[in-house]
Amino acid sequence: MHWSFDFDHSLKVAETVFEYLRKRKISLTPQNYIVWYSHFAGSNPALSRLIRQLEASEDDFGERRCAEVYERFFGAEDHARQVSQSAIRIQGIVEAIGERVSETSDGAVEFRHALDSASTVMGEGGDNGRLLELVVDLQERTARMQDQATFLHEHLDRSSQEIETLRNDLVSMRRAAYADQLTGLGNRKLFDEVIRKEMAAASESGSELVLLVADIDHFKSFNDLHGHQVGDVVLRLVAGKLKATVKGRDTVARYGGEEFAVILPGTRIEDARALAERIRKDIGTSRIVLRRSERDLGVITLSIGIARFRAADSVASFFERADNALYRAKEKGRNRVMVETPEVAGLTPVASAV
Ligand code: GH3
Ligand code: MG
Ligand code: MG
Repeated sequence: MHWSFDFDHSLKVAETVFEYLRKRKISLTPQNYIVWYSHFAGSNPALSRLIRQLEASEDDFGERRCAEVYERFFGAEDHARQVSQSAIRIQGIVEAIGERVSETSDGAVEFRHALDSASTVMGEGGDNGRLLELVVDLQERTARMQDQATFLHEHLDRSSQEIETLRNDLVSMRRAAYADQLTGLGNRKLFDEVIRKEMAAASESGSELVLLVADIDHFKSFNDLHGHQVGDVVLRLVAGKLKATVKGRDTVARYGGEEFAVILPGTRIEDARALAERIRKDIGTSRIVLRRSERDLGVITLSIGIARFRAADSVASFFERADNALYRAKEKGRNRVMVETPEVAGLTPVASAV
């Protein structure tokens, strides 16, 4: 992101942001401010594109939508900051433990010396008074050593609790960084990581790997007709159905707006197509009824493109073949499953008929 540091310009942009948020009754949180500042400053074309798209299709661009835009464009920075703060805290804990341990071990060395010299003195014999002195000294040193050990013990206990809390924080941060806020599915970042990993595994083992790209048909009209909020409910519904259909090592992610990707490792393309058909039929035959008003919104349909991994594939070429198949499914009338060029995918033309 590139910021301009021109004072007058920044003031103008800030005023536009204030005015806009006041008009829309959106609270001026730092998160909302950065979203709208970026938009009005023109510093992030992708963000502005999304905002314009959402504004065009939505009457009420409210707080929740702002939060989603923020998460999409700035969430990663937040996560990176949180992770580096955690790293600093861990470093602090480790250093403190190190100091305590070295204090204790210095004490232990000293104690050891005292024991050695006491033993030498005792070996040389001596009077009662001298022995008593020694014993008292040793008693004091033992007590001090014990105190130090107890202190170290307590410190280690506290540190291990703190480390446990940090570990949990990091686990939930990691989960949040890979989750799509609206649907709870994996997000694009998760998709990118998993596909890379599975492609490497498939290259190495020569096992099958199939990618499904699914896109809701005519979703823009659906939003226009029923509103974006209802559209969101439908996105969650589709996400839930996709999630319920896959299992084990399969991964479902929300790739973009109304587009989902399913990664199927160790799956033959015929089986992947059967699965895609099941998903398509399940969604295309479920009526959407709003719970509160019991309004029946009819059905929505999905088009799905399928590609089979080839050893020479890059993520882009693999995805592109699935996306091209999806495009053909749209072209052929939507609500259908298309496999990438059947001969290439190793399917007989007959078996590839929809
Ligand atoms: P096609 O059958 O060719 O896919 O048509 P379409 O209308 O689904 O495709 P298009 O790409 O023209 O529009 C996608 C729509 O998806 C536009 C946008 O309003 C909607 N959309 C994208 N993200 C969201 C979201 O988070 N919530 C809601 N409710 N709608 C979204
Ligand atoms: Mg669509
Ligand atoms: Mg789309």
